[in-house]
Amino acid sequence: MVEETSEIVLGLLHRGCRFHSSEVPWWISKVTAYKCSRNSTLFDEDFSGMNLFRSAVICGVLLSGGWLSAQSISPAPPSNPQLVSPEIERKVNDLLARMTLEEKIGQLVQYSATEANPDKKAGPTTAALNVNPPGPGGVDSYELAQKGELGSMLNTVGQALTNHFQHAAVDNTRLHIPLLFGADVIHGFRTIFPVPLGTASSWDPEMITELAHMAAVEARTAGVNWFYSPMVDIARDARWGRCTEGAGEDPYLGSAIARAYIKGYQGNSLSDPASVAASVKHFAAYGAAEAGREYNTTDMSELLLRQVYLPPYHAAVEAGAATVMSAFNSLNGVPASANPFLLQTILRDEWGFDGLVVSDYTAVMELTRHGIALDAASATEKSLTAGVDIDMNSHYYDAELPSLVRSGKVPIAVVDEAVRRVLRVKYALGVFDHPFTEGLEVTNAVPDHRALARRAAEESFVLLQNNPVSGQPLLPLAADARKIALIGPLADDSPDMVGAWSGANNFSDVRTLRETLTERAQEHGGSLIYAKGTDISGTSTSGFAEAVDMARNADLVVMALGESSAMSGEAASRAYLDLPGNQQQLLEAVQATGKPVVLLIFSGRPLVLDWAADHVPAIMEVWFPGVETGPAIANVLYGTSAPSGKLTMSFPRAVGQEPLYYNQLPTGRPIQHFDPAHPNAYVETKYVSRYLDVPNDALFPFGHGLTYTTFRYANVSVSHATVSVKELMRDRKAQPLVATAEVTNTGNREGTEIVQCYINVRGASTEQPVRTLKGFARITLKPGESRTVSFPLGFEELSFYNVKAQATVEPGTEYTVYIGGNSTAEQAAHFRLTQ
Ligand code: BGC
Repeated sequence: MVEETSEIVLGLLHRGCRFHSSEVPWWISKVTAYKCSRNSTLFDEDFSGMNLFRSAVICGVLLSGGWLSAQSISPAPPSNPQLVSPEIERKVNDLLARMTLEEKIGQLVQYSATEANPDKKAGPTTAALNVNPPGPGGVDSYELAQKGELGSMLNTVGQALTNHFQHAAVDNTRLHIPLLFGADVIHGFRTIFPVPLGTASSWDPEMITELAHMAAVEARTAGVNWFYSPMVDIARDARWGRCTEGAGEDPYLGSAIARAYIKGYQGNSLSDPASVAASVKHFAAYGAAEAGREYNTTDMSELLLRQVYLPPYHAAVEAGAATVMSAFNSLNGVPASANPFLLQTILRDEWGFDGLVVSDYTAVMELTRHGIALDAASATEKSLTAGVDIDMNSHYYDAELPSLVRSGKVPIAVVDEAVRRVLRVKYALGVFDHPFTEGLEVTNAVPDHRALARRAAEESFVLLQNNPVSGQPLLPLAADARKIALIGPLADDSPDMVGAWSGANNFSDVRTLRETLTERAQEHGGSLIYAKGTDISGTSTSGFAEAVDMARNADLVVMALGESSAMSGEAASRAYLDLPGNQQQLLEAVQATGKPVVLLIFSGRPLVLDWAADHVPAIMEVWFPGVETGPAIANVLYGTSAPSGKLTMSFPRAVGQEPLYYNQLPTGRPIQHFDPAHPNAYVETKYVSRYLDVPNDALFPFGHGLTYTTFRYANVSVSHATVSVKELMRDRKAQPLVATAEVTNTGNREGTEIVQCYINVRGASTEQPVRTLKGFARITLKPGESRTVSFPLGFEELSFYNVKAQATVEPGTEYTVYIGGNSTAEQAAHFRLTQ
């Protein structure tokens, strides 16, 4: 099939070449020229079938006037120039020319150490890193490494273990090609910091870069040089447990955070000894699993895909991500791990991605379960030719590719291209020069890294509610709160504090809330009493009486309730979003004592907190904060530092509202409100888009979060009343408009505010969200201080997708800019687009 296509392509390219330059649209000649010049192999003797295939797709679409837009295929520069440097290309081609078919295929397979025969070859201590269940086949990865038929390993960590396998791969093999060691280092390696949904709530990309770098530094000492992170899947449904691993529901913020991770992991150069290769996952739209059920199908318009789900992956690729992980889910009927539209048209052709694509765990094998492959051979063929370079643990590529290539079903050029991509990453990372790991191995949380982990935890907390008790907001704790009752199953719990992907942490590194709060209460001249009350999923009420008794004997109660770490993350969807077990009953029993309650919610996702919002004065979402749980929470409770986080996922009132997200499209029948200015106007209450039993809006909306001071917004304005489409199109990077607001700290202590800028477009050819985030800034103001905050706006911010899935701006459209402290901000300014 590829050979046939190659002929078509040669024809197309040839025809393209015969066009007089004035007849050829600039983007055709540029794409062709670009592909030819960038990929020196295209017209070499051993030219790559995939490049031809891709060019065929591009040219075919262009010449047939298909849906693919001029904008969307405009030539992208190399996504990471390091990977395609002439020096690396030379080395790659030289090595490739000396490889046997088996050695080539070996570069495309990945196994974990647990797959090795544990009795004879597993080598020194295995530090299991959230290892997945072993796949079928019982492959001996050590033996494969010794034969030069293994390219990389997953979740195999520790100096001794990685060096053990690396020696097998390097010492006695013909070509001495080193292994890559990939691992799920998601929110810290040994020094665990908050889960990604928590760090995202900081809206602090610079800090996320620092955290990512810290994890890379630690993991490199243990032989890991490739992280299966960041997960940048947009999550609009809190039932989906993996929302804990991402940045939430918004593409603009998600893109900023995706870039921050890549910068932190890969530094300025992949060859830096402190850098690891990042793997952007799960490409694509894995977070849109129907009904929030893990691994479930996704189905959406191309417009939605491009406008909401793709931007964070694209941002990560543009930031230079060396690798991408193809997802488990199917997208519009084609599994992502055998999806040429995603892996070739978008990733390679539109985005110019030069790195490698690794499948998710056994995703190649799962193509048979999806039903698009009849057997291992057809799954292998579909996956590799679609653009999945490495098969993670399916046992398919190594088993099937030799005969597929020999029979001509898979052209060797396709294999070669995949091998090139793997080798490029290895050369760029410098593993050929430094295959082994030496020096002091980090085996515990690093004392010097704790300050950053603590700051990250503090910045991740979101103060959802802080109502007055005796005339004062309950938090920070007042000096006369001498006797504190700490109640709840998460108060003295270290394993759950490290979240769903706890790296290679040791639970003993966690400072629990009980431990720190006991010390802190004493330092403040008070005391702390503790009762667990119930288990996380408890059904017994036997601990309630003690807890209630303690509450009665205290000045104030701090309750630590929520989920276990295993209730979010992979394979952890929930159909109910309430407090698990009988924790709600415990909360009600304690609240009934009349003592003021500070409710801390530990969770990997938004929960339904409607009762608490009505009955508990102070509620703070603390996610899973990591090794510095205790000190971070204590600092914030006592006001040593102030909370500053803002939600990046909407908190629903009821699970039936899911998927719930702020940037929804309008409906023709919105809820109507009585307007006192028009008392006689008819207000429709029945035939409108609403639930009979719960309001439409979020209990706590996207962008919401309080602190210990208050802010006033004023003078929201835009620099121009109109801007021309021509001007926006002429230079898509320019930002000719500026939206501004004046923000004042109206309280009596210093505070940090995350100022948010949203836009709404009306009159466009496609329906646009009621509002969508287009800028944010973290600012710190002293009491009484004011600052004007500006948000530059240009094509990037103002464009949207039309029915042809092209990013566009349109004359005659009207824009409203909202600036404020959350997604319900009301102060607005307006402008219009002209020709
Ligand atoms: C997960 C990935 C992870 C991989 C390797 C899969 O089950 O979906 O996120 O990187 O396993 O552990």
